[in-house]
Amino acid sequence: MILFTEQISNRLLYVAGFLESRMQSSFQIVTTRSQIPANEPIINYSKWPIVGSTQIIPVGLLLESDIKVQNLRPGQTDSTPYFFETDRACEIPFDMLSAIFYLLSRYEEYLPFSHDEHGRFTSQSSVLHSISSIEKPIIDIWIARLAEIINQKGANISLQNNYKFLLTCDVDIAYAYRGKGLVRALVFGIKSLIIKKTTLTGFVKALIKKEDDPYNTYSKLLWLNRNNSEKPIFFMHLGNHGPYDKSIRWNHQLMKSLIAELSSNAAIGLHPSMASNKEPELLDTEKQRFMSITNENVQISRQHYLFLRFPDTYRNLIKCGFTHDFSMGYADTIGFRAGTCHDFFFYDLKAEKTTSLRITPLTVMDGTLFSYMKLSQAEATQRVASIVNLVKHYGGTFTLLWHNSSFTALTGSAQWVKVLENIITFATGNDEVFRK
Ligand SMILES: [Zn+2]
Repeated sequence: MILFTEQISNRLLYVAGFLESRMQSSFQIVTTRSQIPANEPIINYSKWPIVGSTQIIPVGLLLESDIKVQNLRPGQTDSTPYFFETDRACEIPFDMLSAIFYLLSRYEEYLPFSHDEHGRFTSQSSVLHSISSIEKPIIDIWIARLAEIINQKGANISLQNNYKFLLTCDVDIAYAYRGKGLVRALVFGIKSLIIKKTTLTGFVKALIKKEDDPYNTYSKLLWLNRNNSEKPIFFMHLGNHGPYDKSIRWNHQLMKSLIAELSSNAAIGLHPSMASNKEPELLDTEKQRFMSITNENVQISRQHYLFLRFPDTYRNLIKCGFTHDFSMGYADTIGFRAGTCHDFFFYDLKAEKTTSLRITPLTVMDGTLFSYMKLSQAEATQRVASIVNLVKHYGGTFTLLWHNSSFTALTGSAQWVKVLENIITFATGNDEVFRK
């Protein structure tokens, strides 16, 4: 495949690399017309027409080297929204390459935005919200359309379909009562008794026996995932106690044996504390703690509260030796924060370079359904099923985050276990479900 462009930039190479991996085809990038070989499919990324090519007119973003508010010019063709409109009369009426770059690089998160109480970028601030596309893998939809257009001219591009379902669990608080020390356990227990979220027998039983602790749901999660060929991932919080960091002591015997037990059936990653965002050196401390427990290196992580600040969060992870992050999702809504259900690499926009940090998007988090979006169980099941269908169709990864604490009346999530079971059943099955 030929990619004709008048100028090459790191931004362009980054997008071309993503397209190559999706289209299973390598691109020959050509900058002068005379170099274009005959009989090869051509993506013509210039404003000049070339006979037989598929033209995408550039808006200039990929040749810029600063970060500034962009004129997004949203539009729509058939039922597919887009932005960076160029010419409505063209086969591809927008600068698809710039739009892909804008979403994958998280360009909009480098611009000033109004944040939530934790300082997080919210879905409402995203261009995908304004074009009603957060619950669609819009980049994957665009690329499928691009492949179709190129194939109509005689090429034979087949898009990779590697659908998989990944069950993940953020272990914010390993146990509700156990391992917290008597005072913390009693305070938590008494609070739960007062608001009638537990009974005295429940509380006493949990204090005596680990198996009865309401957050000890690890074997349940493993069992629910039993028909999935992908191992689940547990992200362990090993930070110090703080306002948003509430786990049991990292070096408590219960934590050590939990990690040992889980490692035989699952992958284990780090769940960096909220405090590590303000004090990045804590990230290394927590990583060292992980390694001292497991005697193994840890390279995968997911941010507590899904806190992401660009480029700092990912720069810190890279500096600490992490190679794979799973935080790319919103707390306030389900769907596709970066517009895709496929893995991609972090592009550091301030350094203008592609990094080796792999990102697997997060699609759905438990608390998003019941706390943030406040969906009914029927609505939640339906909305998630539609998303799973899209991920199956576009052959990416459906990543589900369910906390170990989301199985109990203590967190108001006991009745949601049925929803979890349904999601896992249809995410694990081969068929598309609930197609309307
Ligand atoms: Zn967390």
